[in-house]
Amino acid sequence: MSFESLGLAPALLRALAEQGYAEPTPIQAQAIPVVLEGGDLLAAAQTGTGKTAAFALPLLQHLSNAGATMTRRPRALVLTPTRELAAQVNDNLRDYGKYLRVSSTTIFGGVSMGPQMQALRRGVDVVIATPGRLIDHMQQRSLDLSGIEVLILDEADRMLDMGFLPALKRILAALPKRRQTLLFSATFAGPIKALAMQFMHQPREVSVTPANTVATTVTHHVHPVDAGKKRDLLLHVLSQDSRRQTLVFSRTKHGADKLVTFLGAAGMRAAAIHGNKSQNARTRALSDFKTGRVTVLVATDIAARGIDIDQLPIVINFDLPMVAEDYVHRIGRTGRAGADGMAVSLVSHDESGLLRDIRKLLKQDIAVSDVPGFEPSHPLRTDAAAPRPVQGQRQPRPAARPQGGRPQGSHRPHGHAGQGYGGDRPAEGNRNRQRRRRPAASKA
Ligand code: AMP
Repeated sequence: MSFESLGLAPALLRALAEQGYAEPTPIQAQAIPVVLEGGDLLAAAQTGTGKTAAFALPLLQHLSNAGATMTRRPRALVLTPTRELAAQVNDNLRDYGKYLRVSSTTIFGGVSMGPQMQALRRGVDVVIATPGRLIDHMQQRSLDLSGIEVLILDEADRMLDMGFLPALKRILAALPKRRQTLLFSATFAGPIKALAMQFMHQPREVSVTPANTVATTVTHHVHPVDAGKKRDLLLHVLSQDSRRQTLVFSRTKHGADKLVTFLGAAGMRAAAIHGNKSQNARTRALSDFKTGRVTVLVATDIAARGIDIDQLPIVINFDLPMVAEDYVHRIGRTGRAGADGMAVSLVSHDESGLLRDIRKLLKQDIAVSDVPGFEPSHPLRTDAAAPRPVQGQRQPRPAARPQGGRPQGSHRPHGHAGQGYGGDRPAEGNRNRQRRRRPAASKA
């Protein structure tokens, strides 16, 4: 199955190729044709399944087919439970719609309404909003919902869990009756069905099961380490068997490049694969890895999604992913088809919260062991307030360099949009993250 065969426009296909998406995920393959036909859709899919593109791609196609209008009224509304998800959806729309003239803006609480009002006044095609702040704008009459052609309820189950039902009902009552409605939810539990019955028109149902299970043949190891010593520990682990093909995950593209330079200086044959690399460079890195010319492939989550790497004996998480589900995707590269696999994570104190999320998701404990010589000065925390890295913040400069290595810059986890989703946070929460997101209109 290819994106072409789903009937997507060339401008979208080009953007998808740049994202490194080789083929549609199951939810995309099922949902995109239904949405392109214009019907209502009830989709059971969780974060990590590619659900955002499942609605964003046909939405962009619809809006661009009809020709971007110069009216000020938005034509599509995406409702999300959290501001992080709203920002992420907007980022994705911008990435996928890079070659289209469709504009979008986010509307959520915790920031002043002024810039949001200005963005709405200038005119925008897609509004991505959390319910509370959207209602504020409705009350202020700064938003005209009468032109909405497509409504998307993203993570509807969480919106209900968070008590947004009254707000949703108010918003739905203000929308045109003739519209396309798409509802995405992790489950089709009773209240979701009730919502669908009330507000949707003969929806088609599609469902994908989350791949939140890892092969039982994979053993998980965590090595606590200070952030500044991670690179040396990585080198130490890799050096135990320098001929072994190893996939290393880095949270950021910048971090992946830095690691490759560091490993190269230490004499390892390493290559990076991430979204900033040209398609040629990615293809070359992958084939060099497959043929064994390169023994260490350093990848970001997104780049690794689209590539086909066969069974590997070991996967190393240089950084833990911001979203626990990504751990499962990463580890899916090892322990396949009954073979033994090993997942090694180098975890610093500030990632304790991420490790906690992963344990919760896997529903199993993970062996934690210090590596002699790399014992951390700050132990990992396991309590509910265990810290998570703040994206965009510099990490301490690594203390040591490999012998003969060139001076290295510090590793900086300036995560990209696809990773920035704080799944468990309450709606309108997390001020710090909020400040970094600009709510002004952006070209989607
Ligand atoms: P989502 O479930 O929408 O949060 O998507 C999860 C992750 O998968 C995001 O990082 C997307 O960029 C990525 N993704 C979505 N669709 C594809 C695809 N067809 N191929 C590779 N990666 C994808």
